[in-house]
Amino acid sequence: MIAYKALLHGSMAIKVDAHYSSQACPMCGHTSKDNRPGKGLLFVCQNCQYILHADVIGARNVTLRTLLMRQDWMSTGVLSVRPDVSDSEAKAARLQRYAELRWSPDTSPRLPDVG
Ligand SMILES: [Zn+2]
Repeated sequence: MIAYKALLHGSMAIKVDAHYSSQACPMCGHTSKDNRPGKGLLFVCQNCQYILHADVIGARNVTLRTLLMRQDWMSTGVLSVRPDVSDSEAKAARLQRYAELRWSPDTSPRLPDVG
């Protein structure tokens, strides 16, 4: 339904792996179940101590993965990631590439101070 609606509006929906998206630190890459103390809503990186709501961590990781797919697509003309294909080797390669993604505040423009 989402894919269909996107096409109607001249856009495209793409699928992104959600594996470990709420366990992977977008700042240093450390991925562990322990980054979710007590399996709670708070993400606390056990390597760099980065702290954020786990849902925001998940959203950032999905954003980074989507941007990686877009980058591949722009440079090759081919959508490189096809999560529909259940090939464990391809999945391992994707997760390896995801592990190298980092969130940088430099890429997020800050709003000017008001008043
Ligand atoms: Zn970290």
